Order: sequence, then C-alpha cells, then structure tokens
Amino acid sequence: MPHIHVLDQVTIDKIAAGEVIERPASIVKELVENAIDAGATSVKVEIKDGGISLIRIMDNGCGIPHEEVRSAFLRHSTSKIQSVEDLVHISSLGFRGEALSSIAAVTQTELITKTAEEELGTRYVIEGGREVSIEETGAPNGTTFLVRQLFYNVPARRKFLKTPMTEAGHVQDLLMHLALSHPEVAFIFLNNGQEKLRTSGSGKLKDVIYNVYGRDVAANLIDIDYEKGGLRITGYLGKPVITRGNRNFENFFVNGRYVKSPMISKSLEDAYRDFTMQHKFPFAVLHFHVDGEQIDVNVHPTKMELRFQRQQEVYNTVFEGVHRRLLEPELIQKAEVPD
Ligand code: ADP
Ligand code: MG
Repeated sequence: MPHIHVLDQVTIDKIAAGEVIERPASIVKELVENAIDAGATSVKVEIKDGGISLIRIMDNGCGIPHEEVRSAFLRHSTSKIQSVEDLVHISSLGFRGEALSSIAAVTQTELITKTAEEELGTRYVIEGGREVSIEETGAPNGTTFLVRQLFYNVPARRKFLKTPMTEAGHVQDLLMHLALSHPEVAFIFLNNGQEKLRTSGSGKLKDVIYNVYGRDVAANLIDIDYEKGGLRITGYLGKPVITRGNRNFENFFVNGRYVKSPMISKSLEDAYRDFTMQHKFPFAVLHFHVDGEQIDVNVHPTKMELRFQRQQEVYNTVFEGVHRRLLEPELIQKAEVPD
C-alpha cells in the first residue's frame, strides 16, 4: 500500500483548476466577469489560436492595489463576500475567489493593474501557480490580463481542447451573452486580429441586439416588461416572423447572469405555439429580475445552471407575460398553418 500524504499547494490548485477552467472560454468568462465586477465600462478581449496560445483582456475598472495583487491569486480569496449569508444578496458575478488561482495554475499569466489612487501600477507574472516576478510599472488605470499557453503544464487537459476555430466560437458565444447582459459596458472582441464584436456601451439592450444579431432581427423586436409575484421580465421578443431553426436564439439572464433553463425555454415556446410554425423557435432576450432569496446561484462553479425555488410559478409567469404580449392587437400576425 502506498503511504497517504497531503498534496502540495501547486498540485491542489492544478486539480481544482479543472473544476473552473475547461477551455479558453472559461478563462474569458472569469476575467470579463471580474472586469464587470470591477466597474469597468469598457472591456477589450483579444485571442490568438482560439485563446489557446493567448488571451488578452483589458478593462478600465478599479484595478487591484499593489499590496493586494499577490493575495488576489490565492485560492478562496475574494473581495466580494465575507460569509455564506452574503450569498443571498450577491450582486457581483464572482464570489468564489477561485478564478485567478485556477487560471494561474494552468497557464502563464501576466497581470498589469493600477488603481486611480496609485501613481504606479503593478506588473505580476505567475506561471503554473508559481510567482515569477512582481514589480512596479507605469500603467493606465484598470487591469490587463495576458494569459498564455493554456494547459501547457497539464498535457492531458491540453489534448482535449478542440480546434482553435471551435474554441474561438465558444469565446464569441460567451461574449455575445456578456454583452447582452451588460449593455452599459462597451465590448470589443478580436480573434487573430479580426474584429468579431463591438458594442457601444450605450446602456440600451436594443443597440446590443443590433450589434450582435444585425439589422433584420433588431427591426423585428417586441419589447416586454411584465411583472408578477416578485418576478419581473424585461427585454425583447422576436416577432413571430423572425423565428429560428434552433434554440440558440433564446437568451435568458437572471439578475444579470446568463443561464440555460429548459423550463424557461419550454414556457417561452409554449407561449409562441399559437403564433409560429412547428419546429420553429422564438428569438428572445429576456432579463429576469428576481429577489436573490428566490434563486440558488450556488449550484455549479460555472454558474450557468440556476435553480428557482418556485419553478411552476416562473413557468406560468413567463407563459402569461409572453403570450399576452404576443396577443396584443398591433402584433397579431398569425403564421400560416398548413392543413
Ligand atoms: P472572485 O471574482 O470570486 O472574487 P477571483 O479569483 O476571480 O475571485 O478574483 C479575486 C479578486 O481579485 C477579486 O475579488 C477582486 O478583488 C480582484 N480582481 C480580479 N480581477 C480584477 C479586475 N479585473 N479588476 C479589479 N479587481 C480584480
Ligand atoms: Mg471572479
């Protein structure tokens, strides 16, 4: 029998990183969410080779003070919560304090950051979880992350990455959703030097829909604002004339967080049933505003799954809100139903 021993911290972090970091898009998600939590109004994301060789994320948020840079990379270090009770009222996107330590464990990471109060910023380099250097440097206010060579030290994981094109697609999808959930933030996304997405940060959801989906979709939207039983739904529905061939155009956000919810999809599709042909799916960008106590965001580290306490009520509210809106006289345009 081999003897039992406690793993060293670098190994622990490498294993834990697997929970949070699956692919380049996971890193982009964590870093952009951090930028938004830091109050950034502008976020620029650049990737090379699908983000496998390089991810560069620049924000104009609050920055990290020099004396806190090291601790930001420790596991379970966060400025966002103090205790489990805080989770109920959580308004930030992050809270686990796991992202930076996880990213640093499986990449070569460089951080340049400066707060408005500091004269000089900090440049910090950490590779495979080991600090390489920390020094003062001139820098603009805000934070820039350069993340290189994902899984360079975990060949078993690197093998499972898909082609750069597929990985870039995941990054683009993710950024679309982040842009739709944060119209107040101006996003720029470049893949191998080519601009793929740009939003203005005007604060108007409709502008972002135009930037993401184009003119045809933006010209065929129905706004919705419906509230019942403590659940408010705002955003846009696509007119039945712009239904789509798959579910990818159903976008749901709960308290600013992109979520997938088969229950909400079902409710939305049921509400559209009378207005569309079979095997067609609605276009929708719906924001759900709900009291933090009614949902559990702590279901999975990637936080895409989310549980409502009263599923049936949510189903009913979505159905009613959407169905009523589609029934409003100026919108009635029944699809032709073949007999
Ligand atoms: P979490 O987001 O769960 O708090 P992270 O590991 O993602 O944990 O980040 C750790 C801490 O580092 C954050 O709580 C925050 O204080 C700081 N931080 C990370 N990214 C940024 C950023 N872009 N701007 C300002 N502070 C940041
Ligand atoms: Mg975070």
